[in-house]
Amino acid sequence: MDNAWPGAEPPPTETPQPSDVPLGARCGVHETTDAAFLCVVCGTYGCMDCVFATGGRGTTCRACAARGLAESIPWERRAQLGWMSAFWQTTKLVCTQPKRFFSTPSTETGMAGPVLYGVLAYTAGGALLMLSLGVMFLLGSGGALLLGQKELGAIFGIYGGCFTVGFIPIALIAYPLQGLMQILIASVCSHGSLSLLKSRTATFEQTLRAVCYANAPYFWLFVPCIGWYFSAFWVWGAESVALRETHRTTTDRAVLSVIGYRVVFMVLVGALYALMVGAMFAFGATQGGRNGF
Ligand SMILES: [Zn+2]
Ligand SMILES: [Zn+2]
Repeated sequence: MDNAWPGAEPPPTETPQPSDVPLGARCGVHETTDAAFLCVVCGTYGCMDCVFATGGRGTTCRACAARGLAESIPWERRAQLGWMSAFWQTTKLVCTQPKRFFSTPSTETGMAGPVLYGVLAYTAGGALLMLSLGVMFLLGSGGALLLGQKELGAIFGIYGGCFTVGFIPIALIAYPLQGLMQILIASVCSHGSLSLLKSRTATFEQTLRAVCYANAPYFWLFVPCIGWYFSAFWVWGAESVALRETHRTTTDRAVLSVIGYRVVFMVLVGALYALMVGAMFAFGATQGGRNGF
């Protein structure tokens, strides 16, 4: 017989053996149960009871998700949940339970999903900010007209019109680009900072993912006063937790990787500004001298 596989017919398809699990492998937790998957995070075999979530990246185990959320990231389940619900649940979880959120193993492959979320959160916050300012001006206009202040009412009305009709379409074009730039700059700078601090333990893709989801608090940009002043700081806080959990580093190193380059940038801009002002004064003094002042 020249055929090494006498029964070379396809194996029964009812219980397909996963390609990454050899026959006879047992679950790492339940030692008497046959393994059904290999966890893509910890590389341990698991049985069906140990499945946490399955996605494009593969299957993750419950042990890896122990410090995280009870279910996988809603945004990674947007096909089942619907986009609106997935976006809203993700935003809520990042804002209220960042530590558990960023400890939850991901099963999504590629950067498109997280980047889309980060850009959407930034854009939604910006567009809603324009809408809320527009509505406030229109309400002010109505109030002024009721009080007989026709001129003020007209001015407020024009502002309200500008914000609602004029600026929202501009925001819908400008904010996605701005959001994308902000995500890329923050990811590159934080990843580089963690390298300098010798605390980088995850890939650039994982850093980018962390930064994208940490954009969630930008959604609250539209809330009068609170959102205007605090959403950016809230994002910095979320980014710190995200990078700490993703790179398994300490809180102070994570905070330094988020705040450090921003401080350096502000100092550089300040120095450049001071230099320019100084140069202008010096130039003015020489000119003044020449003119005999
Ligand atoms: Zn695992
Ligand atoms: Zn098991």
